[in-house]
Amino acid sequence: MSQHFLLSSKAKTLRLADVLRLSDAEAETAFCKIRWQDTQGAPVCPVCGGLDAYKTGRPAMTARYRCKACRKDFTVTSGTLFASHKRPLRDYLAAIAIFCNEVKGKSALALSRDLGLAYKSAFVLAHKMREAMAEELKGRTIGGEGKTAEIDGGYFGGYVKPANHRENRRDRRLAFNQSGKRQAVVIIRERDGKSLPAVFRSEGAALSWIKSRIAKGTVVNADEGKAWNDLHSRFEMRRVNHEQAYSADGACTNMAEEYFSRLRRAEIGHHHHIAGTYLLRYAQESSWREDNRRVTNGEQTRNVAALAMRRGPSVDFSGYWQRHVKATSQAA
Ligand SMILES: [Zn+2]
Repeated sequence: MSQHFLLSSKAKTLRLADVLRLSDAEAETAFCKIRWQDTQGAPVCPVCGGLDAYKTGRPAMTARYRCKACRKDFTVTSGTLFASHKRPLRDYLAAIAIFCNEVKGKSALALSRDLGLAYKSAFVLAHKMREAMAEELKGRTIGGEGKTAEIDGGYFGGYVKPANHRENRRDRRLAFNQSGKRQAVVIIRERDGKSLPAVFRSEGAALSWIKSRIAKGTVVNADEGKAWNDLHSRFEMRRVNHEQAYSADGACTNMAEEYFSRLRRAEIGHHHHIAGTYLLRYAQESSWREDNRRVTNGEQTRNVAALAMRRGPSVDFSGYWQRHVKATSQAA
């Protein structure tokens, strides 16, 4: 039997100890090389694209440049997800490495202990890394002629705790006994390919999104859920009734189920509660982790840092705690 990828030496190309040993200057150089790949790390003005910049201002934690063409000042993180960062850049690189090394998810409390951060700072930082991962999913469509995709939905949040005494317990299957906060994560996953999640009130509400994100000619696999019947008019469908089998006549949703296994373990094992406004971010994180599960930890860390450098300032957290929280119900 072949060795599991994560057990192989190939999977382990980055040691956290090496990241923590970086000097401030070395960490900054690493970010410069990631952000300004085309110039091998030489600064490029984020405003006008000018290549001629000189260092200015007092020697600070992070070098400040002034563009000779437009006279604007900038640093390596200006206009990125880590804009106006408060901690040394080495800490951000370490945070990304720690975040990537956990394959199901990393709780904000654990991250705050690892890095000596306040809980809120760790929470915001973890969400910025989720935003970076989401950048990779932007505008993605799944499948195409000759390709096969799987769809499935899973419900998260809105848990109603059963009452202590039996006589006080309610039937939680009935709508009026539910909290109304439950949401459906719907996943589209190409077989042996990439995935794409989004959040809806119910599986049925996801249909137009599914139609817009699965390319024509894709064979779509789904379970027996009634919500998916409408998709037969658009796609060649293969349905599997899970009461009878998990896989029958080539129809299965096992890869979509694998995704939910990861997200559910993140919920139960790491976060205990993932719901509401942030559910989409956790769903996107699991999608990224699923897609990159066979990528080395060094590559993963580099990729997330690159995505963070590519993405503009946080849409969820800009500057300070929850100032600009957006209720995002669809994939960004
Ligand atoms: Zn400029």
